[in-house]
Amino acid sequence: MTTRTTAGERASIFDGLAAEIVKASKGLRESSASRNTTAEIRALAQNDYGRPLRHSLGRAEVREIIAEARSTVWPRLNDESVKLVSPAEFTRLWSGLGVQFQLASLRGAEGLAVLGFYVREMGNSRLPLICVNTAHHPAAIGAAFSHEMGHHLVGRLYGSRKQHAQLLTYTAYGEHLDDPEELAADVLVSLGVFPEAIARKIFLKPRKESQAKSAAAEITDSISTTVLKYFEGRFGLTFGAQPPSTKKLQYLAGVIHFAKLRHALLTEYDI
Ligand SMILES: [Zn+2]
Repeated sequence: MTTRTTAGERASIFDGLAAEIVKASKGLRESSASRNTTAEIRALAQNDYGRPLRHSLGRAEVREIIAEARSTVWPRLNDESVKLVSPAEFTRLWSGLGVQFQLASLRGAEGLAVLGFYVREMGNSRLPLICVNTAHHPAAIGAAFSHEMGHHLVGRLYGSRKQHAQLLTYTAYGEHLDDPEELAADVLVSLGVFPEAIARKIFLKPRKESQAKSAAAEITDSISTTVLKYFEGRFGLTFGAQPPSTKKLQYLAGVIHFAKLRHALLTEYDI
């Protein structure tokens, strides 16, 4: 399945989780949404994140983005995990950051596919806009606020080339790997979710020297279980034993994406 040794090692981390999800989702009524999400999860789990990260964002750029984020929005970024607050509280806390907010509850399959978006150009004297779909789980809402705020910071830092709004949807995570602006916004979410000490604990477990044959499988299982437990304990996002709903499958795509990106930041840049 993999051709490069180092990439293969990285790619294998979530294979076990993806396989479990695919197995569990067979119990679902085969809606096209769940089929697509299952395929996306499989693709994300197999993607190598190290190379696209290096290609899209250098170590110095990542450090610069972190410094900007710490000096403006998240003073404890990468030291502590971000706190989930209500949408109204997010807008209150971030009211002085030169951006306006629009909250909307978009339900139904199409509405729920949208997590949020950021519009940089709002015309005469109007501030850029962050819109967040509040019909989601608080963890997904928090990720959307953080991702869109990431666009705001990165745009100010580098001057964005993009004028149009970019929707944050469940199905676009794979595309973010080749898009420096999207990846930069996701880096901030990943660091907010997994601060360094926690990331090191989860992703850099010491390997057992013996039982070399089953070590890879063992690490894969323990890491995916640890990541899911962490999301449950820290952010109240549960996946449970029964077959996940389409919505939960979509959240799992996000969990895998942000976990793999965090792992790549650690192994590629020691961040
Ligand atoms: Zn985005």
